[in-house]
Amino acid sequence: MNREEFAASVVNCEDDVLLAIRQGIEANKMPPISVAPELGRLLTILVRSSGAKRILEIGALGGYSGVCLARGLGPDGTLTSLELNPEFAQFAKSNLAVAGFAEQVSYRVGAALSSLDALVAEGARFDFVFIDADKPNYPHYLDRVLRLANPGMLICADNVLLGDRILLPDNQDDSVVGMRAFLSLMSHDPRLESVVL
Ligand code: SAH
Ligand code: MG
Repeated sequence: MNREEFAASVVNCEDDVLLAIRQGIEANKMPPISVAPELGRLLTILVRSSGAKRILEIGALGGYSGVCLARGLGPDGTLTSLELNPEFAQFAKSNLAVAGFAEQVSYRVGAALSSLDALVAEGARFDFVFIDADKPNYPHYLDRVLRLANPGMLICADNVLLGDRILLPDNQDDSVVGMRAFLSLMSHDPRLESVVL
């Protein structure tokens, strides 16, 4: 048993609703890159314990992390999710409905940067953000997110180590270069208190 299997044997973080989403993603030949069950549970706990009411998600895929985020909300909370691929957004939306969150979630289809600029122009504000879309844009997403922040906003960003590719100093892939910029911004901005896990 490895450490992931041990952790899952102690607390099962994937119920039937989440399992069905993961299986649907596989059946639809979508990329199998939803958050791991434990991270999904952590998102639920962070949302609930922070009391966030307005959540922003950047990168919906099949709605796995969306369900986990929405589960932390009270009945008056909302999730706004940004997704480039209209078919993914539709699939995520139907999965959020199955999970009981049809009235609390809205999707904006298109490039997240455009949706973020629109949200900034609308004066939108959020308490919690989950960044999990295309990696080269992470520094730009952080810039926009900070303009959308209510005081005390919690910002979670997935995959910041890029499967350890970030550890290779010579790697100049767009994702690695973007993520280095993101990590530098988040670690040096005096408004932010940060940690890499
Ligand atoms: N958060 C999801 C996984 C997201 S995978 C979960 O854990 O359940 C990354 C998603 O970002 C994909 O669905 C992809 O289509 C989307 N994406 C990629 N580039 C994007 C862009 N420029 N704008 C918005 N979404 C984008
Ligand atoms: Mg991810």
